[in-house]
Amino acid sequence: MNKIYILFVILCLGVCCCKQKTAEAKEQKPIVSAPQFVADSAYAYTQNQLDFGYRIPGTKAHKECALFLAEKLHDFGADTTLQHGKVMAYDGSYLNITNIIGSFAPEKQRRIMLFAHWDSRPYADNDPDKGNHKKPVTGADDGAASVAVLLEIARQIGLQNANIGVDIIFFDAEDYGTPYFYTGEEKVEHDWALGSQFWTMNPHIKGYRAEYGILLDMVSGKGSSFPVEQVSKHFAPHIVKKVWDKAESLGYGNIFPKSNGGSVIDDHYYINMYGIPCVDIIAYHPNTATGFPPYWHTVNDDMSNIDRNNMKAVGQTVLEVIYNE
Ligand SMILES: [Zn+2]
Repeated sequence: MNKIYILFVILCLGVCCCKQKTAEAKEQKPIVSAPQFVADSAYAYTQNQLDFGYRIPGTKAHKECALFLAEKLHDFGADTTLQHGKVMAYDGSYLNITNIIGSFAPEKQRRIMLFAHWDSRPYADNDPDKGNHKKPVTGADDGAASVAVLLEIARQIGLQNANIGVDIIFFDAEDYGTPYFYTGEEKVEHDWALGSQFWTMNPHIKGYRAEYGILLDMVSGKGSSFPVEQVSKHFAPHIVKKVWDKAESLGYGNIFPKSNGGSVIDDHYYINMYGIPCVDIIAYHPNTATGFPPYWHTVNDDMSNIDRNNMKAVGQTVLEVIYNE
């Protein structure tokens, strides 16, 4: 994802929220016990993805990892679709991408969409050592761990049905945006989040709707916390409240502070523009220049930064949100 200027958000004010469903008057619902999220399992799924190598569109590792992720969703009981597409990258070249979609209880009308990006960035262009800028990012936290948390959620839904239908989408090519060192003449706008942009133009089901969506991005880093991301607050304040209140009630208030985090162009921006209100649970580090974790887009985004406690906090919170619908 990329930082965006607040002006950009303001420019978007005019188009927001127009497609939101009116909240139905609901009776007080009983508190349902959600399954227990197993962080060790999510940790292992993270390593599984890294074992394929760098998940960069066009590579063998990318192709093999896509099949692995689809197989996992299928094994957990989801109706699974591999959505192949072609998108234009920042330099005008074409990329073959694959979005991976797993649907639980596809017959249900009421649905939630959970998503993360599964590709890893080809360039470590935020590395303090310039010599590393053209090297790929391992993408343990920035990619794999968020997918892994959703895989563990998928496994739990497979074991115990939720009342609501759940669609889990792994978007491709989120992290293929223009590298800092790029000097070519061709400059393509909207160069991040290519897989989710493709999906909004070609949803896997025509006219697809979900009541809301939750994006996970960099949710497993040591020392990370998840204050409220500002694009989420703008487009989906009611979902921010739902998720952050739930985290607090579970004792994760310190990991999900209700203070303001950053403002990012991420997959959730395009899904919000499509008309599904959604939030981004994303690490915010006030003491780095970017607001992202110190290893973000460096060669150090590896397993050594992955914290099972954060996986548990995020995974359990999302499960509790789902099972109380
Ligand atoms: Zn990234």
